[in-house]
Amino acid sequence: MLGRISLLLSAFLVGVALAVLLAFCGPLPGVNAPSVDEQPTPASSASPSDLSTAPPPPRILPPFFPENAIRTGFRFPIAGACLSSTDNHMPNAPRAYRAGVHEGVDFYDGYACAPAGRGVAVAAARDGVVLRADHGYRELTPVEMEAVLTRSQRQGYTGVEDLDRLRGRQVWIDHGAGIVTRYAHLLDIPSAIREGVSVKAGQVIGYVGNSGILEGLTDPDAENHLHFEVRIGDRYLGQGAGPAEVRGLYEQVFGGR
Ligand SMILES: [Zn+2]
Repeated sequence: MLGRISLLLSAFLVGVALAVLLAFCGPLPGVNAPSVDEQPTPASSASPSDLSTAPPPPRILPPFFPENAIRTGFRFPIAGACLSSTDNHMPNAPRAYRAGVHEGVDFYDGYACAPAGRGVAVAAARDGVVLRADHGYRELTPVEMEAVLTRSQRQGYTGVEDLDRLRGRQVWIDHGAGIVTRYAHLLDIPSAIREGVSVKAGQVIGYVGNSGILEGLTDPDAENHLHFEVRIGDRYLGQGAGPAEVRGLYEQVFGGR
């Protein structure tokens, strides 16, 4: 009887020790932390009372960044800018006109703490290599635009190619570790900004415009703004997160190094 009790006690103590170790050490270096919706379920041998005593694991951007990726120190892509206080300008905001959701941050004049209207310079958010620069951009015709929007409505989502057309004239910059920034709806791109060219943070890579935007097809003054994305692999930063968490992520991205 005593032997059985001590065996149970030993098993319990080993379990507690493991829980404490995991709670304080976190994921092993070099191993990507699982995303929120991929958190491993507790082993069936652990009782609910065991789990309730363990502190919650630290939440430092695990679902969104690879372990070795840069996480902070991005510059705002417009000089002196800030995040819009409007959630509609942030990722995951609904975009009913194309049956989709927003995948980036919008910088509009009057919402960006700095001038952000047509023709304002757009800067690289971080050092990197130009992955794409749409010098040969051709604007959608009204018929093409209508086809894109009708197709999106009919299928209930915006297809990848259609979404690319709706971003208009773009520059993409590769920052390594699977991180790419995208600058969309550009009016123009400096001739030196070409695929394969290295750019420095703060270097001008384009100018604010309204390419790829329905209203822009007929009115050059309509909807001029910068649409800016941070991509991680095939996802965008903040994908699936709530408004407060998304805002926190982008505040961290644009925070100190
Ligand atoms: Zn946008």
